[in-house]
Amino acid sequence: MMNLFEHTSAHWARYADYQWRKAADGQSYLLSTDLAEATVYDPIPLADQLVTDAVNIGLLVFHKQPDSEIQAAIRSFACTYGLLGLMTALPTTPRFVEYEKAYLLKNPFIRQESMDTLGYLKLFFPFCMPDFKKRGTESLWNVSGEDKMQAALAMTFRNEPRAKAMSFMRDYGERYDWLKEVFLDWAFTFVSAYLYYNDRDTLDQDTLALYRQGLACFEGNAPSYHLELRDHTVMVWDFHSLMLAIKFLFSVRLTDPDNPMKLCAHCGKAFIARRSDSRFCSVECRSKGRKRE
Ligand SMILES: [Zn+2]
Repeated sequence: MMNLFEHTSAHWARYADYQWRKAADGQSYLLSTDLAEATVYDPIPLADQLVTDAVNIGLLVFHKQPDSEIQAAIRSFACTYGLLGLMTALPTTPRFVEYEKAYLLKNPFIRQESMDTLGYLKLFFPFCMPDFKKRGTESLWNVSGEDKMQAALAMTFRNEPRAKAMSFMRDYGERYDWLKEVFLDWAFTFVSAYLYYNDRDTLDQDTLALYRQGLACFEGNAPSYHLELRDHTVMVWDFHSLMLAIKFLFSVRLTDPDNPMKLCAHCGKAFIARRSDSRFCSVECRSKGRKRE
């Protein structure tokens, strides 16, 4: 069968540096630093590394590591891949700014089914709101001309939903407690699935049932697609947020019958096994792990 997901449009922007800042609401937000340069990249070819890095951050949360360590790991993840794009991932459509209100998918962060658009944007612009005006379904967004990087990003993503370009602005930030929850969800799902098959013979029925329930709680939205005339007519899958891309790539990896994602028998980190009998993530872990046995 043809590769259904051969064509994707998932380009994403990352700044070279990010910082944690505490806002007036008492929450810590991750934002780009003032002078960091931005680059645009395609996360799809990096899928395996991206998914493993994301799961490993979730494992730090899972094992209740100190916040300083988790924050350092999330910041480093952002410097490599950018922020998750929660602002475009939570509404029912990434084109939410074109509607009267922002309508939200079921999510663990916001209880309301819909929110006034400006009130919703405020959740992601904790220090300085973008120059954005809204009346009914009409909206107007002026990108600050002083910051050439931002203007270039807005230009690059001009044919995509406006909220996607807005999430690449320097004043856009994501809350620490929300990020933590998202990463934890991936790690929890992976660990449940991994242990379910790996330790099946030694686990009792209640634990196995718990893992099945854990997996059933994980849900995702399929990316949307559009058609393009290339060498022939193709389906192009649109990922309007890095979060959606990770969630989707993670689900594909987890459900692949030859899924080689494992937990290292020594350090406990997730890794992609090169061979089906590999038990360790690195040469170092293998020698340390074998010594202990
Ligand atoms: Zn290891």
